Amino acid sequence: MLFQALSTSPIDGEPTVSTQQFDLRPTAHPTEERIRAEILANPGFGRYFTDHMVHVRWTHNDGWHSAMVRPYGPLTLDPAASVLHYAQEIFEGVKAYRHADGSVWTFRPERNAARFQASARRLALPELDSDTFIASLKALVSQDVDWVPTPASEAEESSLYLRPFMIASEKFLGVKPAKQVDYYVIASPAAAYFKGGVKPVSIWLSSHYNRAARGGTGSAKCGGNYAASLAAQKEAEAHGCDQVAFLDAVENQWVEELGGMNLFFVFRDGRIVTPALTGTILEGVTRDSVLQLAADDGLQPEERAISIDEWREGVRSGEISEVFACGTAAVITPVGELISEDDRLVCAEGSGGEVGKSLRKQLLDIQYGRAEDRHGWLTRLA
Ligand SMILES: *Cc1c(COP(=O)(O)O)cnc(C)c1O
Repeated sequence: MLFQALSTSPIDGEPTVSTQQFDLRPTAHPTEERIRAEILANPGFGRYFTDHMVHVRWTHNDGWHSAMVRPYGPLTLDPAASVLHYAQEIFEGVKAYRHADGSVWTFRPERNAARFQASARRLALPELDSDTFIASLKALVSQDVDWVPTPASEAEESSLYLRPFMIASEKFLGVKPAKQVDYYVIASPAAAYFKGGVKPVSIWLSSHYNRAARGGTGSAKCGGNYAASLAAQKEAEAHGCDQVAFLDAVENQWVEELGGMNLFFVFRDGRIVTPALTGTILEGVTRDSVLQLAADDGLQPEERAISIDEWREGVRSGEISEVFACGTAAVITPVGELISEDDRLVCAEGSGGEVGKSLRKQLLDIQYGRAEDRHGWLTRLA
């Protein structure tokens, strides 16, 4: 256990997830109630932040220490901090959902904690234990609970988006794993990712760029992957597309994922296919949940390689009836069109397919406490 102050309860050996060990330093300037209400009425995505943030420091000599909830605000970072030069950084994306009775919950945070540890190993950062990761979400959400939106209706998918991240803050220009690292969690109220309901997105098939290669960082959630995807995203936008899809880096033939979402292909005969995790794809929590819910519904999930030719031919022959992307931020989003230099493929007319729509509703109903949590996916935060 890296973080001894938060390890196990002395009474029965049960792991404790308590907020006690986070030193609370409340802000002297909380956002006025009236202003917060205005923000929560139209938060958009990632534009506004709550009054506090979590901070825990790690040093090579002392391990994790000085856990606190402190006022949200700019960081003091040495210009030589290695994250600024060599991108030694990882992050997570988690949402907090308010239920009808006012309680606040999050979805499968132990999966995010495990992925954060895997990302840390790949980026040579220190691992944060799962209990501390989950306790940090609890500590921040308890303090800023008034910032968790109350959805006025089922259609209003508002939530508090939580962004845990870890950066190498050691002042040193040599290329080596940093001996000082900082972990933070910030929180941002979020409306539904797509305003005005779910609309199919158009996808640009990148032929100049790849997202990940075997042995690279494709399966780690690190900022560098996103920096590297922006040129492709610009290319997509120049062609009038919303998002970009990447193929494998070796044969330029196998479908991987979008810049920040996993892909699913629904077949008429009940199969539902997603690219297998071969080390170049990010293991989405939503992806895993969709696989489970699809199996519960009697569909046949398959994790395997799917080529760009199979995608195109399947849609043209009607064998593939719908394609959708999934991730925490946008939940499940139908793919309307696949566009490339020499081809245009319509994957969905109207508002997208029924299978994605149904899985989306099931997922949201569990997350917002409107359906039974039969897989034990929810953890209470406040
Ligand atoms: C975060 C992310 C996803 C989606 O993961 P979720 O856990 O479902 O939010 C998919 N692909 C990439 C590249 C990502 O960074």
